Amino acid sequence: MPHLEMAIGPQSNIAELVRDLPIAAEVLGKFGLHCAGCGVNKYETIEQGAKAHGLRIEPIIAALVQARLSGFVPNISNEDRAPLRRAPGEFKRHGKIAHIVPIMSGKGGVGKSLVTALIALGLRRRNLRVGILDADITGPSIPKLFGLRTPLLLEVDPNAKPVPQGASAPPLMVPAQSRTAIEIVSSNLLTDQEDTAMIWRGPILSGVIRQFYEQVLWSDLDYLLIDLPPGTSDAPLTVLQSLAIDGVILVTMPQALATMIVRKAANLVHQLKKPILGVVENMSYFIAPDTGNKYEIFGPSYAERVSELAKAPLLARIPIDPQKARLADEGLVEEIDDPICDQLAGALLDAIEAHPKPKETISII
Ligand code: ADP
Repeated sequence: MPHLEMAIGPQSNIAELVRDLPIAAEVLGKFGLHCAGCGVNKYETIEQGAKAHGLRIEPIIAALVQARLSGFVPNISNEDRAPLRRAPGEFKRHGKIAHIVPIMSGKGGVGKSLVTALIALGLRRRNLRVGILDADITGPSIPKLFGLRTPLLLEVDPNAKPVPQGASAPPLMVPAQSRTAIEIVSSNLLTDQEDTAMIWRGPILSGVIRQFYEQVLWSDLDYLLIDLPPGTSDAPLTVLQSLAIDGVILVTMPQALATMIVRKAANLVHQLKKPILGVVENMSYFIAPDTGNKYEIFGPSYAERVSELAKAPLLARIPIDPQKARLADEGLVEEIDDPICDQLAGALLDAIEAHPKPKETISII
C-alpha cells in the first residue's frame, strides 16, 4: 500500500522514513546510503546523509518519491550515484564561519574532547552546520571518537598567489566528514599511522593550529568548535588571540584543585578580553543504574564556585556514564542519544546570543 500522504524532502528523517516506507531503505541503498541499516543515529536527515556521502540530494528525493508512488525501486543512473566533486571554481580560501568557540580545560583528562563532541552532536541535531578543529595536537582524540581514520585529502589551492619557480604553493586540506556530516580536521588525520606520536614544540604547535584554520577548505559553517590543548600554554593562547572567537567554554571536573586551575584559565581568557560563554562540569556524579542512587565519585561538585570564578553561567553538569565512554571508545560517539547533547547546544546558543560578537566574523589571523 503506497504511503501517498507522506511528504519526502531534504529534512525527512531517514529512520522515520524507512519505518513508514520500507522500500525507502532499498532506494537509499542504491545510492550507497545504507544508513538505515548501519546504525547511523536516528536523527540523520536525507540531506545530512547525502552531504556526508557527497551526493546530490535532488535525484535521491526524486527516486524516493517515485518508489513511493509506484511501489518499485526505480533505476538510478551512474551519474546520480557518483559522489560530487566540487568544481575548482567553487573553491574559496575560506568558508564563511559564523561562530568560533574554543573548548578549554585547565588540565588534561577532564573529558574536554568528549564534551566538544557532545556539543557538536547537539548543534548538528538542530541542523546547524558544524566543524571541529582538533587543536589538541599532543593528544588528538576527536577522529577516534568519530571513527575516522582515512588521512585528509589535499587539494591544490587555485587562488594561491604565484610562487617563485621551483617552489610549490602549500596545498589545502579537505576536512574529513563524519557520518552525520560534521567536518573534522586533526593532526591525527595527517598520517595513516594512528599511533605515531607527534612531537611539537610550542611555536611549531601554534603554527600548526593556525594552518588547520587557514589552510583548510572548510565549508560555510554555523559553528566551528576548537578542541584546545589542555592548560594555558602558548598554543591555546594563540588560538584565543588570533581568531575572531565568540568566547570560550571551560570544561572542569569536581576536584578542589580544579578551582585553582580554572581560576588561572579564566584569568587568562579575561586578560585577553574574550568572553567565557559558560562552564561545563564533567564527570560530576554517577547514578547507579540498579538503585538510582547518586554518588559523587570525585568528591562534591565545585560547579557553582567555578562558574562564579569564571563569571560565566554553568551550562551543564554531566554525569559519569560508562555507556558514553564505550561508544566514544568504539568510534561511535554519534550514536550517543542523550538529552545532554541538546542541553549543551541550547545553553551554548543562549550564551552566544547574550554575547554578540563584533560584526566581522572571519578570521583575523
Ligand atoms: P580530555 O580531552 O580532557 O583529555 P577526553 O575527552 O579524552 O579528555 O576523556 C578522557 C576519557 O574519559 C575518555 O576515555 C572519555 O571517554 C572518558 N570520559 C569523558 N567524559 C566522560 C563521562 N562523562 N563519563 C564517562 N567517561 C567519560
